[in-house]
Amino acid sequence: MGSQEVSTVDWQGKHVTVAGLGVSGIPAARALHERGALVTVVNDGDDERSRAQAAELEALGVTVRLGDGATLPPSTELVVTAPGWQPDKPLFLAAAEAGVPVWGDVELAWRLRGDDGREPAPWLAVTGTNGKTTTVRMLASILEAAGLRTAAVGNIGVSLLDAVLGETEYDVLAVELSSYQLHWAPSLRAHSAAVLNLAPDHLDWHGSMEAYAADKGRVYEGNTVACVYNAADRATEDLVREADVEEGCRAIGFTLGTPGPSQLGVVDGLLVDRAFVADRQKQAQELAEVADVNPPAPHNVANALAAAALARAFGVEPAAVRDGLRAFRPDAHRIEHVADIGEVAYVDDSKATNTHATEASLAAYDSIVWIAGGLAKGATFDELVTGAAKRLRGVVLMGADRALIHEALTRHAPDVPVVDLDRTDTGAMSEAVARAAELARPGDTVLLAPACASMDMFTNYNKRGEAFADAVRARADETA
Ligand code: ADP
Repeated sequence: MGSQEVSTVDWQGKHVTVAGLGVSGIPAARALHERGALVTVVNDGDDERSRAQAAELEALGVTVRLGDGATLPPSTELVVTAPGWQPDKPLFLAAAEAGVPVWGDVELAWRLRGDDGREPAPWLAVTGTNGKTTTVRMLASILEAAGLRTAAVGNIGVSLLDAVLGETEYDVLAVELSSYQLHWAPSLRAHSAAVLNLAPDHLDWHGSMEAYAADKGRVYEGNTVACVYNAADRATEDLVREADVEEGCRAIGFTLGTPGPSQLGVVDGLLVDRAFVADRQKQAQELAEVADVNPPAPHNVANALAAAALARAFGVEPAAVRDGLRAFRPDAHRIEHVADIGEVAYVDDSKATNTHATEASLAAYDSIVWIAGGLAKGATFDELVTGAAKRLRGVVLMGADRALIHEALTRHAPDVPVVDLDRTDTGAMSEAVARAAELARPGDTVLLAPACASMDMFTNYNKRGEAFADAVRARADETA
C-alpha cells in the first residue's frame, strides 16, 4: 500500500472497545462515536476524575465501564488502546484469542486521516531511545523555515488524532513515536523515518531488547523515500535492513564524522549532505554550521543531522535547514544552561532519565560536578561511570537508588570525591546544589543529569529540573 492511500473503515454499528480513559482514550471514543461506532470504554481506575470523564462520554451515548480494564466486552470487533497499556494485559490476551485486532492511538489516527475527503499530510516519523522530542522539534522548525504548514505531533503533547482530524491543514507532519505507540501501529506507513539510537529502556514493558528493537523498527515499514539510521549505532542500520520498504526507498545514514555517499555528516565545522545531491560520489552540499545547532553538544548535532536528513528527504532546500536550526530553541530541562556563578556553569538536564541520555550529556563537558540519582529502573552504571570518570571533578548523589551509582563510582572512579546525601526528600536538591558548588572549580560545569527517573523525590522530571534551577538561582542571588 502506498503511503498516501487512505483505508476507509465502515464504522456504522461496529463494536469498538476503547481501553483507557485519558489523553488518547477520550478523543478516540468521541471520534469513533461520531462515525457511528458502538463504543465501550473500559478503564482500570474508578476515581472521581474518571467518573466525571465517564459522565461526559455517557451523555453522548458512549458506554463506560469503570474499575475493570481486564475483561473484553463479548461483542468487541476492535480494541483501541492507550499506548501505555502493557501487551500482556488480560484484555489483549482475550482479544488475541478472539481474533480481535488491537490498535493504538497512532494506528487510529493513521486509519482516520483523510476519511473526511481531505488530502492527508505525509508523516515524517522519528523514534529512538533518546533525542526524539528534540529532533522532531528541530524538524518542524526546518519545515516551517521552508514555508511548509507543519506541526510537531505525536508523543510530544499534541495528539495525532487532533492533528489529523482538526481543522488546520498541514503539508507534512513531524511525528514523534514512542516504542509503545509503534507496538500498536501495524499499518502505519511514513513517508520517511529515523531511528536515532537504540539502548535498553522500557524492557519491562516490551519483555526483551529484541522485542523493543522490533517495535522501534516498525517505523521503517513501508517508508517511501528514506529510512534514516545512525551510522554510529549498528542496531539502527540493522533495523533498516530488516524493514520491508517501498521500491526506491533509500537508506540514509547520519554521522558525526565525514559522511560517505548516502550519508549526512560533519566536515570542518559544517553539517554536510552527501545523500540528497545530484552526484553523491563526488558532491557534498553544505547545510549549516555546527554552531547553528542549539546547543552544539555532539549528541545534539546528531539529532540535527537526523532532522536535516528527514527534511531533505522531503525536498527541503539547504538554506531552510540552516534557518530552521538557527530558529530552534530547546525544550526546558534538556541541557538547559541555568546560570553562571563565579566561573562555574550550572546546567539542567533533568530529562536525562536513563544512562544512555546521561552518557551523551556527560560527554558534552570537559570537567563536571555531576548531580545524579533517583529511580534506576533496573539500570546498571558501570559503563556510564567508566566512560565519564576522567571528566568528573566530583559527584553528588541523592535519591532511592543512589547506592548503585555510588558502588559503580567506587569500582571505576575511586579517586573522584563523592557526596552521598542520603536523602530522598524534595528539599534535597538545594543541598545537592550547595555541595556541588563546594566541589566545583572555575571552568567546571555543575550538571544535573540524574540517569534515573525522578518519581522517588519529585512528581516528574520537570519538577526535578525546576527544583535544581530554583536552587541555582537562589544561590546566584545570594552571591550577586
Ligand atoms: P526523548 O523525546 O527521546 O526522551 P529528548 O529530546 O527529550 O528525547 O531528550 C531526552 C534526553 O536525552 C535529554 O536528557 C538529552 O540530553 C538526551 N539526548 C538527546 N538527544 C540524544 C541523543 N541523540 N543521544 C543520547 N542522548 C540524547
